[in-house]
Amino acid sequence: MKKLLLIFIILIQNLIAQSTPYVILISFDGFRWDYANRGITPNLDFIKENGVHATSLKPSFPSKTFPNHYTIVTGLYPENHGIIANSFIDPFTNQKYSISDTAAVRNPFWYQGEAIWETAKRQGLITASYFWPGSELNLEYRRPTYYEKYEHKRDYNLRIKGVLDWLSLPYSQRPKFITLYFDATDTYGHQYGTDSPELNMSVMKLDSLLGKLLNGLKKINLYDSTDVIVVSDHGMTNISKDRVINVEEILSGYQTKFLDNGPIMYVIPEAENFENVYLKLKSAENHFKVYKKEEMPEYYHFSKNPLIPELILIADVGWSLMTEKEIKRQSNRNWGGNHGYDNNALDMQGIFFAIGPDFKNGYTTGTIDNIDIYPLLAKILRIEPNNKIDGKLERIEFLLK
Ligand code: AMP
Ligand code: ZN
Ligand code: ZN
Repeated sequence: MKKLLLIFIILIQNLIAQSTPYVILISFDGFRWDYANRGITPNLDFIKENGVHATSLKPSFPSKTFPNHYTIVTGLYPENHGIIANSFIDPFTNQKYSISDTAAVRNPFWYQGEAIWETAKRQGLITASYFWPGSELNLEYRRPTYYEKYEHKRDYNLRIKGVLDWLSLPYSQRPKFITLYFDATDTYGHQYGTDSPELNMSVMKLDSLLGKLLNGLKKINLYDSTDVIVVSDHGMTNISKDRVINVEEILSGYQTKFLDNGPIMYVIPEAENFENVYLKLKSAENHFKVYKKEEMPEYYHFSKNPLIPELILIADVGWSLMTEKEIKRQSNRNWGGNHGYDNNALDMQGIFFAIGPDFKNGYTTGTIDNIDIYPLLAKILRIEPNNKIDGKLERIEFLLK
């Protein structure tokens, strides 16, 4: 009798597994919401007509790459998952995190919360990542089953081929959830700005790669059983050498350390000067805002983490906070675009497009929040989400059939 019951349970589990769709989560880094309205993205247009589309995807603060990619896969605000910037310092140990430091990027110490591939793996699903921030941790159970180590110049067609190869594995080894990442729109947006022909070329290139992936899925007969979700981590705005705030000049006479520059800067004064430095910055507020950590407006959700420094400067959109040294170092650069600003700003909004058996057909909604993507992924993967998250399924599930 017990044996029969066991066989029955296994049969049911297999049936559920087989009805679970494949899910491919694609990130086009820095793809601003309106790039999709330029009439140069036929494949995104196809998804819009036959799947779902949000007017924009709101990033979390700060609107930077690593914080937001990790938010998308954990459902947590950066203050709760710990990747509070692309680079930061632990003030208690002086240990540094930076996205260009491979050892740091793979060190699980920095990453709180649970990525969707951990949740899925624990519940018996095979997962894979062709690049994603947080996918390379030095702990097997925190990584996707299959993963690729980040290589900025890896040929884009090889990335598509890699995903299709995973989906062509025998069923028992085939991943149900796959991530895929492309940097081009971020890279060209930074270098040439948001209205350049170079940026538009990168938009067209990524759109055509999406077309290739959709065609590839048809060729291996998985198109009808795959949910494809295309997102971006943030938008982009044009910057200029005429919109620079020299923070060092404002604070001349004070011994301070400066962390980061551009849309956000952290100022670390000597303890005895803290209040004076704050008041000095406050009186000089022009095209930027200064906040003590505890007075950060609630909507940023950016004050809880002990790694967030005590004084936070946020530039107005399009302005850059800089030190003397940075101003000199960057004097001959090409002023293109940047991001990291207030995550409510229109230019910081990203994209959300999705198509597949679980999504409605030809449905458009307004702005959705990127913290809600994790519970959406759990739902379409038919798994229990981790319950300690900031995201909420009820704010996003109306996109599903
Ligand atoms: P940013 O524009 O500074 O917010 O960061 C964008 C950069 O992040 C890209 O140009 C990539 O070089 C880098 N990047 C993206 N994904 C990864 C990854 N998985 N590992 C390391 N670096 C990455
Ligand atoms: Zn980015
Ligand atoms: Zn960028």
